Amino acid sequence: MTNNERLAGLLFPDIDKTPDYYENLFPQRNLKEGAKVTRFAPSPTGFLHFGNLFTCVTAYKTAKDSDGVFFVRVEDTDQKRKVDGAIDIMLQGLSVYGVQADEGVVAESKEIGEYGPYYQSQRKEIYQTYAKALVEQDLAYPCFCSAEELDEIRTAQENESTKGYWGKWAKCRNLTIDEIEQKLADGSTFTLRLKSPGSSEKKCFFDDMIKGKIEMPENVQDIVLLKSDGIPTYHFAHAVDDHLMRTTHVFRGDEWISSTPVHLQLFRVLGFKPPKYAHVAPIMKEENGGKRKLSKRKDPEAAVSYYIEQGFPQESVNEYIMTIANSNFEDWRRANKTEPIEKFPFSLKKMSVSGALFDMVKLTDVSKNVISTMTAQTVYNKTLEWAEQYNKRLAELFK
Ligand code: GLU
Repeated sequence: MTNNERLAGLLFPDIDKTPDYYENLFPQRNLKEGAKVTRFAPSPTGFLHFGNLFTCVTAYKTAKDSDGVFFVRVEDTDQKRKVDGAIDIMLQGLSVYGVQADEGVVAESKEIGEYGPYYQSQRKEIYQTYAKALVEQDLAYPCFCSAEELDEIRTAQENESTKGYWGKWAKCRNLTIDEIEQKLADGSTFTLRLKSPGSSEKKCFFDDMIKGKIEMPENVQDIVLLKSDGIPTYHFAHAVDDHLMRTTHVFRGDEWISSTPVHLQLFRVLGFKPPKYAHVAPIMKEENGGKRKLSKRKDPEAAVSYYIEQGFPQESVNEYIMTIANSNFEDWRRANKTEPIEKFPFSLKKMSVSGALFDMVKLTDVSKNVISTMTAQTVYNKTLEWAEQYNKRLAELFK
């Protein structure tokens, strides 16, 4: 037994499976050539941001247009942030706009599909199996640094251009197995860190489906893979889950672009083929001549529930989403007045790189056009349905 194998056994005494076990359990999906597998991976906060809906609609359409799969995975590793009933609220918000998962979490505590569990909180053993394998290959190590020690490193790095836990600053990188054994015997807790093979001289390249070719410095940080309670960080869980769930295209907010070099490195050390990334820019709002992100705190229209409460027909919101998703949608619509929206040849390449602008006047205008194509009976039915929930007096008048 090598020292690394011994170390892996010491750190993960309860793990008896190997990555091969999971590779066989979750084989490549049997889909037609070119089919795309996309997903929505919310933290269960119960708040569905308009930006989430926007990203989901694009991910969903990409899967559907290619006869692929769209699934929902719940990222509930932070139990403190968990809100009861959050999943149902979020899924219902999506389903109003036609986004229905084929697989994964389809209602609170209800999962379908062969690639689960789809709640991250139930995948601890899977993450630890892959973490153990990295230790065996000398690609990960335990770090016993306390919060104070990490602070000291930060202070000492004041004049260093690359900060963080890397290279000579990574104190626990070179602990001997005897030192580690001693610390474990003393009851010290540890986080598990990646032994980054990156070099600050090298670059990392990737071709984002929306933003195009991106070049960034390679990751050199020994990032945390598992926290001291054995729960994975977003980075590690993303790599393990999207690999094992056989995601082909990761749609997510563009705040994750800066972490993509970490993710590509993780896929490499784990021996996984990386997915394609589609980093979606946030929805922007014009304010005082400038632009800012549509904000959960400041803007009521940031919540998907707002459009339902205000009585915008679902069709209008979907039509509006396509208007801001693809610049050629309006031309297509003019030429195809009665075609269902599903027929629109949506293209990721035509998405806004810097962030679509939200415009309530435009939404209202789109909505007016959509309503004008409905029959009087449909408008009556929809209005009554809305009023029964949000304006009881109006509902009474209708009857
Ligand atoms: N839970 C992450 C978030 O809400 C998911 C990001 C992703 O889609 O990978 O930001």
